[in-house]
Amino acid sequence: MKLLMHTCCAPCSTYVIKKLRQEGYEDITSYWFNPNIQPYDEYKHRLETLKEYTTMVNVSLVIDDYYNLKEFLKDVSNFDGIRCEYCYRRRLEKAVIYAKENGYDCFTTTLLVSPYQKHDLLKKVCEELSKEYEIEFIYYDFREGYYEGQQMAKDAGLYRQKYCGCIFSRDEAEMQRDEYKKQEEERHKKNREEQIANKEKKYRKE
Ligand code: SF4
Repeated sequence: MKLLMHTCCAPCSTYVIKKLRQEGYEDITSYWFNPNIQPYDEYKHRLETLKEYTTMVNVSLVIDDYYNLKEFLKDVSNFDGIRCEYCYRRRLEKAVIYAKENGYDCFTTTLLVSPYQKHDLLKKVCEELSKEYEIEFIYYDFREGYYEGQQMAKDAGLYRQKYCGCIFSRDEAEMQRDEYKKQEEERHKKNREEQIANKEKKYRKE
């Protein structure tokens, strides 16, 4: 089976490649088409990391280096529905067309490994494309290996990004980190106040 593996980034591909090989898929091609990654220096960084990793694990890589920030932002803003659905379809349809035109038997995507993706929606988009273009979709719930894959990426010294890809997800991730930091600070403050109050209570008793 000649399999085209749409690849969102190198860290997500670590476990997916391992699992696919365990399942008997030997002829795997990694396919890069991710015009959703912003800003451009981040896009380049992730692509360079993937080049490095596919060489390390001996997987061939096909790169569609199309990038158009304005177009992506315009289309995603005009999309009448969940932003990620547009994004999944945009990337995966290109991968599926490439697979069909180049004699692949099946396709999958490394996006399926991330617990941060909208897994069911992603699966649905893949199934629809599989039907539409008459090409088999290989599905595993790769999420079971997410942490193992992250450790593999760490061990291999790969760059690991802190957000999904688009500028919206970068802001959301940053805001979540700020919120977490705020909650932690409040928790510490409360603990300190409780400790002081307990000490005062004890002192008064003595
Ligand atoms: S959050 Fe991720 S999947 Fe969703 S639109 Fe942004 S880049 Fe695409």
